[in-house]
Amino acid sequence: MSAGQEASRFRTRAARALKGEPPPAEVTGPVLRKLVADSAAMLKRGPLDARSRASAARQHALDNLEELHDRLRSRLEARGVTYHRCSTGEGAAQVVRDLLGDARRVAKSKTMVGEEIGLTPFLREGGLAVLETDIGEYIVDIEGQGPSHVTAPALHLNRSRIKELLAGAGSDVGTDDPVTLSRHIRDIVSTFFDDCDATITGANTTIAGSGRLVAVENEGNVALGVSHPAKHIVVTGLEKIVAEDEDALAILEVLAPSATAQPLTAFTHLLGDPPPGQERHVVFVDNGRSEILANERYRDILRCIRCGACMNACPVYTVAGGLAYGSPYMGPVGAVLSPLLWPEGGFSDLPGASSLCGRCSEVCPVGIPIHRMLLDLRADDGYAQTTGFAEKAAWKLWAATYGDPARARIAGTSGRVLARLSSALPFVSLPLGAATEERARARREPRNEVAYSPDPAPEAPPNERIALLIQRLQDLGVKVVPQKPSARDGDRVLGAAAAVAGTGSLLLTGSSASRREILAAERVIVRVDPGTVVDHPNALAPYISDGQDSLILTGASRTADIEKQIVRGIHGTEELVVVVGPTSSHRESEIPVTPGGR
Ligand code: SF4
Repeated sequence: MSAGQEASRFRTRAARALKGEPPPAEVTGPVLRKLVADSAAMLKRGPLDARSRASAARQHALDNLEELHDRLRSRLEARGVTYHRCSTGEGAAQVVRDLLGDARRVAKSKTMVGEEIGLTPFLREGGLAVLETDIGEYIVDIEGQGPSHVTAPALHLNRSRIKELLAGAGSDVGTDDPVTLSRHIRDIVSTFFDDCDATITGANTTIAGSGRLVAVENEGNVALGVSHPAKHIVVTGLEKIVAEDEDALAILEVLAPSATAQPLTAFTHLLGDPPPGQERHVVFVDNGRSEILANERYRDILRCIRCGACMNACPVYTVAGGLAYGSPYMGPVGAVLSPLLWPEGGFSDLPGASSLCGRCSEVCPVGIPIHRMLLDLRADDGYAQTTGFAEKAAWKLWAATYGDPARARIAGTSGRVLARLSSALPFVSLPLGAATEERARARREPRNEVAYSPDPAPEAPPNERIALLIQRLQDLGVKVVPQKPSARDGDRVLGAAAAVAGTGSLLLTGSSASRREILAAERVIVRVDPGTVVDHPNALAPYISDGQDSLILTGASRTADIEKQIVRGIHGTEELVVVVGPTSSHRESEIPVTPGGR
C-alpha cells in the first residue's frame, strides 16, 4: 500500500462516520461528555496526590524496566508461574499457541495486546474455538470490525444494531433491551466456561516485588478465567510492570475513575499463586516497545495505563469514532502509539487526527504530554509523506520553533502561532467541521482540571470513615446491616481483611479470595471489622503484604457495555451484603456455599 493510500485512511473512515455510515450509536457524544465530567468528580474524591503517585509509579517502571523484569521473573517462578518474553507480535502469538497445547476451547478475556498481535484470528485459523467473554468484546467480535474504545469496545453500536448482530449470529433475543441482551450474552459465556480448556486474559499491571498479576474488570469473566480452566495464559505488554504493591494501588486509584467514573471496578484481582491444579503463564510482548523506550521524545507514551480518558475527552474521537483510526489503539493515545508500534503499518496519518485542543493531556491521569507528542509526530518524516507541501512546511516550522526552548517560550506565551498553524491545516477543515464545534464547546465549558480537595481528609476520624464506607457501599447497591442476616442456602460468608471508605471496597485475601466460591454463591455476605477500614486504596498495602492471593470487591458484578446502561449481576451474585461490626475471625468462611451453580 502506498503512502498516499495510507494517508487517506483516517479521513475516509472519519468522513463515513460523519455521514452516519453505518448509523452510529446516538448516545456516544452525550455519554462521553457526561463521563468526562463524572470522571473529574470521581478523581476529586481521591487522595490529593493520586495522579502524581500513579505517574511516578509508571515512570519508575520505565526507568528500571530490565531490573524489574528480572525481579518479577524470579518471583513468578517461586509461585509456579512461567515467565515468557517475546520480541515480536507474531512470536508472541505462536508462543501462546504452543502453550495451549492440545486445548481446543479457549475463553478469552479483554486484552488490548491480544488485539494488537491479532491473537484471536491467529488461534482460530489454527482450528481452536475461541470465545470473547467480555460482553462488549463478544459483540464486536460478531460484528467483525474490532473495538472502538479501549474500555467500551461496542461504544459505536446502539441496542438495535446489537440485537441485529445477535440475530445474525443465531441468537434471536426478541428485544433490544440492554438488560436482556447483556444477560443473553452472559449466559453464552457462562455455558462456554463449563467446558473450556484454557483462558487468556490481559493484565493491567504486574508487580515485580510481590510477583502478583493485576487485572481489573466489572463482569466477572476474568474471575471465571483465572479460577476455572486448567490453564491460564496472561498476555500483556512489556511495559506493564511496577515495582511494588503500593505502585499498583497508586495506579488503581486513578484507573477506574478516569476510565469509567467508578471508584474501582467490581473486581480487582491481585493474583498470587495459581489455584491448585492450574497451570499459569505470563507472556510479555515487546513488539516495538523497546524502540519506543529508547526514544526520548516518545518514551513517556509507555506510561499509559489504557484508561481511555484521552479518547473520552477528544473532540475528534467523539465525532469520528474509534473505528476511524483503523488500529487497536484509537483516540489520542492511538494516534501516538499506532505509528510508533507500526512505523511501516499505514498509521502515519493518525497524528493529524487531532484538533490540538490539549484536552487529552489535561485528563491523562499519568501526565503523558500527548498533544506534544502528536505535534512531534507531525514534524516527523512519516507524517510529512502523507500530507501536502503546505502542511509539511507548517510542521517543519513547528518543529524548528518548539525544538528550541527560548523560541518555544516566546511562541507558547501567545499561543497564536500554534492556533494559526492549526487553522491553516487542510486536514482540520476537511471532515471535521463538527470536531471544530466540539473544540469550541470544550473551550467554553469548564476545564476538566482536577482541583484536588480530598474527601474524606487523609486523617478522617474513625466514625466519619465508617459513615463514609456505609454511604459508598449503599451508592454501589450493597446492602449494609449491623448484624449477620439469617443464614440461607447458597450463602457465602467472608471476613474482609480490610475495607476502603472512599471507594466502598472490600479486600479479601487468601481462601476468602476464592473466585470459584464467590462466583458460585447466591448471596455473598462480607463482615467488616471497623478497625480495618482505611480511607483510600493506597492504605491497603499492609493488608496484602503477606503475598497472599487477594481480591478487592467494589459492588456486585456489572456491565455497561450496551449504551452504557448499567446491568448488575453478570457473573456471580447481584446480592452483596456487608455486616459492619467487630469480628474475631474475619478471614474464615463460616457457611459453606451450596454445591452447584456458578
Ligand atoms: S494516554 Fe493517558 S488518558 Fe490516554 S489511555 Fe493512556 S493513560 Fe489514559
